[in-house]
Amino acid sequence: MIVFQCGHCDYPLFFENNKCENCQHLSGYRDQDQKMLTFEPQRALLISDREKIAYKYCKNKEHEVCNWLLEKDDPHDYCRACQLNRTVPNLSDGKNFPKWRNLEVAKHRLIYQLQKIGLDLNSKMNHEGGLCFDFIAKRNNPKVMTGHANGVITILLREADSVLREQMRKEMNEPYRTLIGHLRHEVGHYFWDRLVFDNQYVLSEFRSIFGNEEVNYSDALQAYYKQGAPQNWSSSFISKYATSHPWEDWAETWAHYLHVMDMVETAHFFGLKVNPTDILKNIKTEVTFDPYTIMDFKTIIQACVPLSFAVNSINRAMGIPDVYPFIVTQPVVNKMTFIHKLLWSQK
Ligand SMILES: [Zn+2]
Ligand SMILES: [Zn+2]
Ligand SMILES: [Zn+2]
Repeated sequence: MIVFQCGHCDYPLFFENNKCENCQHLSGYRDQDQKMLTFEPQRALLISDREKIAYKYCKNKEHEVCNWLLEKDDPHDYCRACQLNRTVPNLSDGKNFPKWRNLEVAKHRLIYQLQKIGLDLNSKMNHEGGLCFDFIAKRNNPKVMTGHANGVITILLREADSVLREQMRKEMNEPYRTLIGHLRHEVGHYFWDRLVFDNQYVLSEFRSIFGNEEVNYSDALQAYYKQGAPQNWSSSFISKYATSHPWEDWAETWAHYLHVMDMVETAHFFGLKVNPTDILKNIKTEVTFDPYTIMDFKTIIQACVPLSFAVNSINRAMGIPDVYPFIVTQPVVNKMTFIHKLLWSQK
């Protein structure tokens, strides 16, 4: 993700900002061309500082969970990211607000990235093959789980509570558990249906890399939860869970592909260069490209490895967990390359 700039005073603005901390001009995100716009705060109408066009905020701005813009005469009340919400938390319960906000931060970043890749994001409420989100409290729906089914991505509200999430991470013995990670994983299942299953040629290539997904899914998951991952899992899978079934391998690898692209995009924006002294000569990189414009995935992953090594080391300096606690082996790179090529072919 890049960092934006105030149209009035040039101060940096984060993707989530709804005002400039320096000049107090209002700010909002226009997804059509991925730009942040700013507005004079005292005016009745939102007229953009630079282009002088009239906008309105997405209706979810009322709840401070969205800063996206629509043109003033747009017939929709909600932005393209919020039009995908089918169920939002019960807002009469004040405790739900901060959790919903955390979910929306992650969801908006996900939508930013999927739009940047150029993927179709139709709402399931209007298109049978579309996508939607249910953000649901488990206590009201005991059987509901975080997951994907037929275009519906369900995320349990408790995942948005950092204490409960950390507890679950420990119980599941996972190195990493985040909302953006969940969303990237679940949307991977959705795009498997759209991009792989519907295309015989892609499907057979998928099977040659990830294995045959026709093996019974619930049996495979049951076996995984009973026996765990095979001992040598890390030589060809990105996570233990990825070993449970080819669909889960795909979704896990897809999530990591999106992690890598976002890390490298951010590094490119900041012009990051990793050039350690003498001893670590092979851990060098200079991110001179936007990964979304690069066809060869090898270039991207080669930049990402030294980068995550450096950033992990900075995190360790502060006593916090590694930002990217994973080892990407060649078989995993091959899987990510398949995803990259498939997405490239959609452009
Ligand atoms: Zn400003
Ligand atoms: Zn919105
Ligand atoms: Zn999954």
